[in-house]
Amino acid sequence: MSKKTIITVATTGAWPKKENNPNVPMTPAEISEDVYACWKAGAAVAHLHMRDDNGNGTMSADKFRETVELLRKNHPECDIILNLTTSGDLNATDETRQMHLKELRPEMGSYDCGSMNWLHSGLFINHPKFLEELGKNMQEWGVKPEIEAFDPGMIANAAYYLKKGVLKAPLHFQFCMGCANGIPGSMKNLVFMKETMDQLCPGSTWSTFGVGHSAMEIMYGAIAMGGHIRVGMEDNVMYAKGQLAESNVQFVERAARAIREFGREVATPDEAREILGLKK
Ligand code: ZN
Repeated sequence: MSKKTIITVATTGAWPKKENNPNVPMTPAEISEDVYACWKAGAAVAHLHMRDDNGNGTMSADKFRETVELLRKNHPECDIILNLTTSGDLNATDETRQMHLKELRPEMGSYDCGSMNWLHSGLFINHPKFLEELGKNMQEWGVKPEIEAFDPGMIANAAYYLKKGVLKAPLHFQFCMGCANGIPGSMKNLVFMKETMDQLCPGSTWSTFGVGHSAMEIMYGAIAMGGHIRVGMEDNVMYAKGQLAESNVQFVERAARAIREFGREVATPDEAREILGLKK
């Protein structure tokens, strides 16, 4: 398993619209077909956000349900791990951020381990009360948290919740690099994030992505350091400078090529379950 790298695809996110890239999947039908295509290309985990009918981020349990049902109905052989966001709409309530997890019981859900300014325009609030409640609920519902850390302070916060029993070891982190107001995306910072995690939460697994110009550096760095990687249009609508991505599959295929060229192997969903300690 030490040679295996997990590819997570983040298909949609809450922000990019068709104006930014016409290939971003937005509807349950588009997202479910995209997840299937990315699974065939080597993605073991799909991190999903939903959009309302105007293309805005929504935590609508109906949209999550419809997407998951379409995937199961049209592609029953697709055994990809589903990781549903809890942060798809800055105006959602603490309740609507979790109800889809309670109902659908995905294998994973995102857990944003602190608050921050968001895109220089709003507040991304993860109140301590909310984090305590969400951590306990996810344990009860059998949903493994993917701990999104936008800076090293969020890793320290996860260590605190681990000690308090709100989170349970082994933790799995997603280092979100190069987001506005988060830690800038660079190799030096990636090494620092990983070392901070090893020190504060030993035995954890980790994955990472870089937005914008740091995307390649972070992807190749993660492969070299033995971490796991996330790609997709939630984080990048450009495939390369001046070139819009044609699809999420294009990102997954490049990640799979990079992993193999390096001499590592792309983890299947079942191998990812073993690495992440998920029960099927
Ligand atoms: Zn997300």
